[in-house]
Amino acid sequence: MSDDTGKQFKIAMVGAGPASLYGAAKLAKEGHHVTILNRDIKHGGLAEYGIYLNKYKMKGGLRKMFSRILSNDLIHYYGNVTVGSEGSMTLEELQGMGFDATIVAVGAQGTKWLGIPGERAPGVYHAKDLVYHYNSLPPFSEQDFAIGKKVVVVGLGNVALDIVHWLVCEKKVEDVTLVARRGPKERACTPKELKLVSGAMDKDALRAEFDRIKENLESLGQDVDAEYDSLIKYSDVELETESHTRLNMRFLCSPARVELDEAQEHVVGLTCDKTLMTPPREEGGRPGVKMTGEQETIECDTVVFAIGDSIEPSIGLPLEPKWKSTFATVPEALEQFPDAPRYMVYDPEKEEPLWGTFVVGWARKASDGLVGKARADAETGVKEVLLYLNGELEQGPAESDLSMDDITERLEGLLQERGVTFVTYDSVKVIEQKELSLAKEKGVDEYKFASNQEMLSLLLK
Ligand SMILES: Cc1cc2nc3c(=O)[nH]c(=O)nc-3n(C[C@H](O)[C@H](O)[C@H](O)COP(=O)(O)OP(=O)(O)OC[C@H]3O[C@@H](n4cnc5c(N)ncnc54)[C@H](O)[C@@H]3O)c2cc1C
Repeated sequence: MSDDTGKQFKIAMVGAGPASLYGAAKLAKEGHHVTILNRDIKHGGLAEYGIYLNKYKMKGGLRKMFSRILSNDLIHYYGNVTVGSEGSMTLEELQGMGFDATIVAVGAQGTKWLGIPGERAPGVYHAKDLVYHYNSLPPFSEQDFAIGKKVVVVGLGNVALDIVHWLVCEKKVEDVTLVARRGPKERACTPKELKLVSGAMDKDALRAEFDRIKENLESLGQDVDAEYDSLIKYSDVELETESHTRLNMRFLCSPARVELDEAQEHVVGLTCDKTLMTPPREEGGRPGVKMTGEQETIECDTVVFAIGDSIEPSIGLPLEPKWKSTFATVPEALEQFPDAPRYMVYDPEKEEPLWGTFVVGWARKASDGLVGKARADAETGVKEVLLYLNGELEQGPAESDLSMDDITERLEGLLQERGVTFVTYDSVKVIEQKELSLAKEKGVDEYKFASNQEMLSLLLK
């Protein structure tokens, strides 16, 4: 089966997270070939290596779905292949293989820096690195992330709560303090995530914190007691493991400096500017934040920033010129989808689209929502890709005599020439089978190889 024009297109997708896989499923359903190149040996992206450790049911459901997608004969998987200036091949090389379109779905692999002193010191981490570490993604799984006894986690979204979950239930540290620039009502975590860690909450300390910020919350018309009650709603729910961690929260605090000891080797605190919220500019908007000029230092030996991630520019796409925080996409809305965001990449210098190059999922909008949102974004993006392929946009793909077999030969030839050990989906299944049998043998819910070496040597046997 192929599309309305009867043509069977060949599309390259970079990345194999939810955005890529759901997008690939749509394209394959229309009868097109999709070649997926993925940095990690195994597919799944953050659905495999981000979602919290023991959400087995959710991960299991996604794994089944992804396995169905990758079993489609029109989808060709290459794991252990990084695309970009520091990778196995550049994006230009990939595009030069003869594909009709390229979709970049690499997620948000960059680190968001606040630019404050001390943020790159040992003992200061970014949530994504820790999340990759505890979810056994090489090479993060092989790195040592020393965690002390008193940890400050900056941020109040679901990822921050996942980190707290790990610190409370797995690391069992003495003390965790969540720090947020705004107030409790502006938290971005779901009750479900809060419930998992509420058993560690220090209610007296939280009440004292609410007393400290009460005036500012009331000035915005917020009901202080209702907010307090909603935060402690699950504090009597037992933690999933026994832990003596005390969970505190500090609101209206903006990180200003990580304090280090004299040798500049160990974290001793996080100094924050105290803030006040100001009324939102527009109805229903988020309150603004202003500094009070006062500071306070929270004593700690480890700091984790859970403030969202950013895109990784080494993939080689142009950045939007103003903030350089996203890849540039074509500015004008499409006649066919006036309300949809644009997915085709744009060269701001030449002021023209990069015809045939698209970006979807967290690569298009970093840290934006859950798997369902990444899926919806990719599926909308694919509609735009199909318009392009079917010649319904100003410019369509160039005619090519290359077959899928020709392209595959060129691609594999280049990878072999570079000594890149690519991993097909059949090989991923061998790894997964072995991991399942090892989990059984060890009597654990899940077992994952912690290094690429272990996975690759299994395939050589
Ligand atoms: C800590 C955390 C917990 C989460 N928990 C949940 C949850 O419980 N439920 C839920 O629904 N959602 C959750 N999410 C959100 C969900 O994981 C994301 O919405 C989704 O994974 C985004 O999909 P994506 O495909 O755009 O990016 P990603 O999942 O990041 O996938 C990117 C893919 O690109 C590959 N890649 C990266 N760079 C390159 C390159 N240069 N070359 C080739 N390949 C590359 C990566 O290997 C990866 O396979 C969580 C996210 C985080 C960070």
